[in-house]
Amino acid sequence: MYSKEQQQQLNTLTLQLVKEAVTLSEAEKAKALRNVINYHDWRYYVLSEPVITDYDYDKLFAELKQLELSNPELQTPDSPTQRVARGLTSEFETVQHLVSMLSLENSYNEADLNDFDRKIKELTGNPEPEYCVEPKFDGSSIALVYENDLLIRAATRGDGTEGDDITNNAKALSSIPLRAPFSKYGIAKIEIRGEVIIQKHIFEKMNEERKAKGEKIFQNARNTASGSLRTKDPNESRARNLEAILYHISFAEDASGNNLLAGKLESHYHCIEILYDCGFKTPLHEMKVCRNMEEVHEFIQLWDKKRHTFNIDTDGMVVKVNSLKQQQQCGSTTHHPRWAIAYKFAAKQAHSKLLKVEFQVGRTGAVTPVAKIEPVPLAGVTISSISLHNEDFILEKDIHIGDTVIVERAGEVIPYIVGVVPDLRTGHEHKIHFPRHCPSCGSPLVKPEEEAVWRCDNADCPAQTEERAIHFVSKDAMNIDGCGRETVVEFIQRGFIKTIEDLYRLPYTEILGLEGWKEKSVNNLKAGIEDSKNRPLWRLLNALGIRHVGVTTSKDISSHIRSIFDLQKMSVEDLTNIEGIGPKVAQSIFDFFSNEGNIHLLHELKRLGVNTENRPEDALSKNNKLQGKTFLFTGSLQKFTRDRAKQLVEENGGKLLSGVSANLNYLVVGEDAGSKLAKAQKIPSIVVLNEDEFLKMIE
Ligand code: AMP
Ligand code: ZN
Repeated sequence: MYSKEQQQQLNTLTLQLVKEAVTLSEAEKAKALRNVINYHDWRYYVLSEPVITDYDYDKLFAELKQLELSNPELQTPDSPTQRVARGLTSEFETVQHLVSMLSLENSYNEADLNDFDRKIKELTGNPEPEYCVEPKFDGSSIALVYENDLLIRAATRGDGTEGDDITNNAKALSSIPLRAPFSKYGIAKIEIRGEVIIQKHIFEKMNEERKAKGEKIFQNARNTASGSLRTKDPNESRARNLEAILYHISFAEDASGNNLLAGKLESHYHCIEILYDCGFKTPLHEMKVCRNMEEVHEFIQLWDKKRHTFNIDTDGMVVKVNSLKQQQQCGSTTHHPRWAIAYKFAAKQAHSKLLKVEFQVGRTGAVTPVAKIEPVPLAGVTISSISLHNEDFILEKDIHIGDTVIVERAGEVIPYIVGVVPDLRTGHEHKIHFPRHCPSCGSPLVKPEEEAVWRCDNADCPAQTEERAIHFVSKDAMNIDGCGRETVVEFIQRGFIKTIEDLYRLPYTEILGLEGWKEKSVNNLKAGIEDSKNRPLWRLLNALGIRHVGVTTSKDISSHIRSIFDLQKMSVEDLTNIEGIGPKVAQSIFDFFSNEGNIHLLHELKRLGVNTENRPEDALSKNNKLQGKTFLFTGSLQKFTRDRAKQLVEENGGKLLSGVSANLNYLVVGEDAGSKLAKAQKIPSIVVLNEDEFLKMIE
């Protein structure tokens, strides 16, 4: 869209305008303001890399508005002031699409895609067609028409032949350029298609704000996008942070009326490059040209994982024949083009039957209801057991034993119950009775007013001891090799472990005589236990299982103390002075260290050889947010120096690489990034970040 030189010129011009350091006629000034504001819109809304403060931007915008107000003849249709529409739309006009907007055929597995590939080869007579694969954006479709570089119309999909004219609303979306330099490609009239979406994090934020204001929350981003696009108040479209991503040129003509799609424009990829260059948001960085089906499958699999962290909802991928000539050879049915197919990711919802509910006592005494359901396969695993969180959750969702439940699991995420299907009730369902006594030790359960969970308060409750010991040995805690959940349970049952410190005085000779234990496994266990005496302090702190204290908090605290016993002397206030520790966490730590039994445990652990000190050699990384991730920085960084960048990566447990390779996870780009960026864009597994996005990762 803008060359490096142009960008430099516009940056300089911006500075001059902000500082009022140039003398221009009113007409020149209006033009200069239009140019720089449009440029900054592009940087902000398309690249997400603003180079101007909001304050300066607003100032320039106000100046342009004032100029146009006093000199209406200076106003142009592509002036950014035209994005702010006046008044409401009473009725949308119906308009005819230049080319009908079809649906996509769906596929659900590799075999479907292979069929598609076979058909394409038949239809085109080409044994090696190239495919472009890109995410299927889950939003609301839109068609934009530009004539002589100016946006003249925007329409919804409607019935595919005709849609609603939503030009005014579309103009409110700053990611849609009002003027786009298509003429440099010899294009006089063009119709382009895309999807209007709301980024996931913005959608979540919107809902949080609505909730805080007591307003009804939106169900999903897609419906919200399509609703906002058709709102009668265009300013609302802007307020709702809609964004347009363009992924198709459906019509392109030169000044003499020649169809460029049958000539000059060669491939889908080329079309996307043009759209990108003309200032649109496109899937250019998310798509791949594949030379065969193996590459297609591989890329889809990659995205099946990537989509969970991708900031836009996707429910699948779209596979398109890359060559436009071959696309024409394939043609379309009345319903969908034959040269494209959507691949839908595996369903993340399933139905099952709730068989019974078990109540489990956790290490802090919290009693959690766990649903046992008829095993059901979902997103790659079989699910038979799901947490129901607490009594309120059960009441709110009106869950009964015998109900048909809707189970959801997105990717690696823990499965949960979305709700029940009351229509499928037979009358044989019954209520879930929440126990008022601990299922393990029988003590009465208690529930503080403000909390949702019932708890067993008995410090000697066997279920709690078991969970505490299991947590103690676990990977994020003392990380004891050769000693997992089952071993702990067995030792508790045999009476070897009554309290945590018993882990450090196990009767190894006796264990060697037990069924299933051999010399090797006992030696392993012993080595694991011995080794764990030498862990950094934060691991011990986390292993204690103090409420609200996890890995991050443990690390925050341990870097502020010399010995675990320092915590015994700290007040709630002292604790809240540590960065990252709030009053709730502080109170919980204080309570833990005010308990004599806990102090006794710590002294015992120390006596048995467990490290309780913050040793200098343990002062490694602040946290491990970037653990195992590799980074490379390129371009001129604006927010921090190279050295600081390096330090940030290392402090957070990440690693720096010196060049772009398949081992690289993240490329962070500053201004004017060059060959490294180009190289990284060819490797689909590399995620390209700007400086802000990188900072967000370690926030
Ligand atoms: P469907 O409505 O499920 O038949 O899917 C077709 C729709 O998917 C199109 O009309 C577009 O609105 C939408 N879509 C989303 N992303 C893309 C994409 N990358 N390429 C083509 N269509 C897409
Ligand atoms: Zn109990």
